[in-house]
Amino acid sequence: MGLSFDPDSIDLPIGHFIGGRLHPAPGEIEMRRPSDGRAYAACPKAAADTVDQAVEAAKAALKESGWATMRPRERVRAMQAWADLIEAEAEPLARLEALSSTRPIGQLIAGDIAVTAEQIRFFAEFADKEGSDVVPTDGASLGMTISEPYGVVGAITPWNFPVSMAGWKLGPALAAGNAVVLKPSEMTPFSSIRLAELSVKAGIPAGLINIVLGDGPVTGNAMTGHPEIAKISFTGSTGAGEAIMANVARTGIKPMTLELGGKSPQVVFADADLDKTADAIATSILFNAGQACVAGSRLIVEESVAEALSALIVARMQAARPGPTWDEATRYAPIISQKQLSRMDGIVQSAIAAGADCVTGGRVMQHEGYFYQPTLLAGVTPSSPAVLEEIFGPVLTLQTFRDEEEAMALADHPTYGLAAGLFTRDLSRAVRLTRRLQAGTVWVNRYSRSRDHILPTGGYKRSGIGKDLGREAYLANLKSKSVLIAL
Ligand code: NAD
Repeated sequence: MGLSFDPDSIDLPIGHFIGGRLHPAPGEIEMRRPSDGRAYAACPKAAADTVDQAVEAAKAALKESGWATMRPRERVRAMQAWADLIEAEAEPLARLEALSSTRPIGQLIAGDIAVTAEQIRFFAEFADKEGSDVVPTDGASLGMTISEPYGVVGAITPWNFPVSMAGWKLGPALAAGNAVVLKPSEMTPFSSIRLAELSVKAGIPAGLINIVLGDGPVTGNAMTGHPEIAKISFTGSTGAGEAIMANVARTGIKPMTLELGGKSPQVVFADADLDKTADAIATSILFNAGQACVAGSRLIVEESVAEALSALIVARMQAARPGPTWDEATRYAPIISQKQLSRMDGIVQSAIAAGADCVTGGRVMQHEGYFYQPTLLAGVTPSSPAVLEEIFGPVLTLQTFRDEEEAMALADHPTYGLAAGLFTRDLSRAVRLTRRLQAGTVWVNRYSRSRDHILPTGGYKRSGIGKDLGREAYLANLKSKSVLIAL
């Protein structure tokens, strides 16, 4: 049986994790398993008083442990022990993740969880290497910038890669000397609780990581408006990002990192290696069934190779086989909820009704759980909702171009600028167009994040503000103070 497991055999940690222990709380939000649609648990909804308790626990932990002021090497050691424990406990952690989310168990241990542990190590290593600086001033003074943690950071994460998103937020915040109150998605809270439990087991002071469960309007809102949460780090939809900015503006000013939605183009020239390009494009839209912020959901291809490339992509799409996330063999993920499934089908059907050519897919799969057929829509116009809206599913649109100018015009999205792909063998064209693409990440002749955590990720336009990963994510968890001393 290997990694496969019985979904009814898992004990779920249901409650808020505050001050180093789980506080059981009544469930209020129904949770259904994406793989079979069965209701299996209910997620608690923290009101403002629970968020207060978590903030108080974070402040107390900072004070008692001296986390911000201890020799940074001690923080490094504790975080490395935490990363080691995450790897040692990868299997039970993966089962919690696979049960509630769309991530198949066969991809979690070597994928999401190993990467998360590595990212925690990566950020820990900054703790005693980056920050304060002596700066040149006149000879009668000593000038410096001192970096200081914010105190309590509020982190809010989405459901699409729950464990990785928690790692993206917790790693840099903790390494920089902060405590965190984290709210995972109400659909996928369990792996974040387990990460927090493991942090305490590994020797990170209890109360430095607190997990509050709940939805956006109640729990999330209480966090973003909390006067003692000094910085917000958010990943989710552009709509929720706008609501958070408005609430922060109403309740006080604080820095925000916002990692939001995308509708990323993949621009393919006729001179590209079409087989490799088809692999990259199909993987990008099939991975997690397109439920990735950087999914390359808009194929923009030179007219002369459009037919050949789409045939190669369709063959890969038609090979996708659905299966439950708790089966080790599954590679093609379910959609997170019935609501998302219906929403994406609505966009696809209206595109077809408006004249789009559905080259493959275009339907809900006849299968237990929430699965959608990998779909390729050709004959769409730039104003079609299928081209404009983030579908967040395995739906790829296809548009063609005749020259570079037309390709760049189609690639430029009015709202989003998260990522872009460029496929060509012409090096000077690749460099020239990389500069023109309005996106926070550009991949050339590939379409995937590597394990080079040093490369930051974040959006242009309404895809966000600030960066996750990289040195930038670490520095975003510090504020800088300028000091001038007369000698
Ligand atoms: P979502 O915006 O519905 O929810 C994300 C999180 O925000 C959840 O925890 C939710 O409870 C919370 N939330 C919602 N409204 C809120 C509010 N008003 N105040 C505070 N918190 C609130 O997004 P989702 O459906 O969970 O995730 C999918 C979205 O996330 C997609 O748009 C995707 O592109 C985006 N995403 C972006 C990145 C990135 O790095 N840019 C990465 C992953 C996902």
